Amino acid sequence: MSKNEDGKRAKADDARSTGPTGDIPACWRQPEWRQGFRRRLLSWFARQRRDLPWRRTKDPYAIWVSEIMLQQTQTPTVVRYFERFLAAFPTVEALAQADQAEVLRLWEGLGYYRRAVLLHQAAQKIVSDFGGQFPKTVEQLLQLPGIGRYTAGAILSIAFDQRRPILEANTSRLWARLLAYPEPVGSASAQRLLWYMAECILPRRRVGQFNQALMELGSTVCLPRQPRCRECPVSRFCLAFQKGIQENLPRQRPKPAIEFYQEAALIVRHNDRVFLRRIAEGERWAGLWDFPRFTFPPELADQLDHMQSSAPKQAWLFPLSSEQPSTISQDRADSPTGNPLSSCARLPTAWPVRRSRKTASSSALTDTVPPVVEDFLTRQMRADTGILVRPVRQLTTIRYAVTRYRVCMHCYEAEYVGLADQAEKTTKPWEGARLERSGDGLDQAAQSGGGFQWVGLDALEKLPMSSPARKLACFVQTSSVNALKGKASQRRT
Ligand code: SF4
Repeated sequence: MSKNEDGKRAKADDARSTGPTGDIPACWRQPEWRQGFRRRLLSWFARQRRDLPWRRTKDPYAIWVSEIMLQQTQTPTVVRYFERFLAAFPTVEALAQADQAEVLRLWEGLGYYRRAVLLHQAAQKIVSDFGGQFPKTVEQLLQLPGIGRYTAGAILSIAFDQRRPILEANTSRLWARLLAYPEPVGSASAQRLLWYMAECILPRRRVGQFNQALMELGSTVCLPRQPRCRECPVSRFCLAFQKGIQENLPRQRPKPAIEFYQEAALIVRHNDRVFLRRIAEGERWAGLWDFPRFTFPPELADQLDHMQSSAPKQAWLFPLSSEQPSTISQDRADSPTGNPLSSCARLPTAWPVRRSRKTASSSALTDTVPPVVEDFLTRQMRADTGILVRPVRQLTTIRYAVTRYRVCMHCYEAEYVGLADQAEKTTKPWEGARLERSGDGLDQAAQSGGGFQWVGLDALEKLPMSSPARKLACFVQTSSVNALKGKASQRRT
């Protein structure tokens, strides 16, 4: 680069570093500082970069898939899934044409299934709106479901070497330490500043390499706990390291209060069919299939608590942890018995009162449904679906945690009694003939008009494990298997 060009670049850098906020450290105003930082980082990355499958390509589709999979998921886990996914759907067209159930099946185990749903929808939009050509501008990318500023920046910089900044958890932490930023990085003002800094520091060329180097440093060296500062290529630029405060940064925002919910899932049987609901857009687990589920109003939840307080507490079936929000319990559900769905086809005849051996002795479950609960569920079903049901017994209780929620979900079995009267039916056009029709599969029409549908057990069995309905069916069935085993062992002793 000529001296003249160097000077122009330094000037441009200076202009950018006089940004919108006064929080920028003085060192950032020195072009030499920024150039030195870039050089050190890029040369470290050239030596230390991990060989990952998505780094061997410039295909924006593959890079996009990897970026979506890497959200909230460790890199070694993603490698396996990425290769399998790309083998099944090598192009955006192939993904767009795929059945959503197949996409979810290949996502099973990665969690956060909403990502897969949105990826699939975005692929369809790329084909329909952009003729299958991957969008090359931020504006176009931001129109796609599941793509935000970070993902757009990553795709454009890595695939097309466009000068776009990135900021995600790893780089936020890295910047907070490099700048010794004293505030929590999640606040709006912090995000504004960090995005600004991320843009200022970008090189003119090799932007994709530079962004990947930042992410690599954040995920392998500048770790959330015990950062490996002695091995860090940019430690001389790091204000937190110089002050010895790197372990205390970034500052965390106070944790939000945990909300507690009591829910009821209703498994309604009618001959060899069960009643399912496709979860609507805007709700948690949107697009997936669930049994009708209702949150008890606070007064009823209190009443239930009171009713159960005299009985010994039921054991927690699932560990309370920062669960993935799109699953009931990922690890237990994926393989509770090794072949969790093997007996789903027998569900109508093989659903005795579910009590696992673990919970049988301390369970507060009853074979019957308390009248207040029966009344509530009957009314809710009638209002929401137009069908009349009679809850007959409690099958199991599942407790799980989803990030900010703790949920105690009571699962009841119910019998189908009939349709509500004609006046109600006419207000819900989807509930008449369709509800009476034999459900050989999942009717896509269920997406409109409430999303409720009768589904045959074979279709339930074919649902991906990400669907709450299939997962819950497996838990219920597993409890039953355990209960039977428990009884057998009691007989032996
Ligand atoms: Fe992170 Fe330590 Fe490097 Fe600073 S010196 S960027 S705290 S690893």
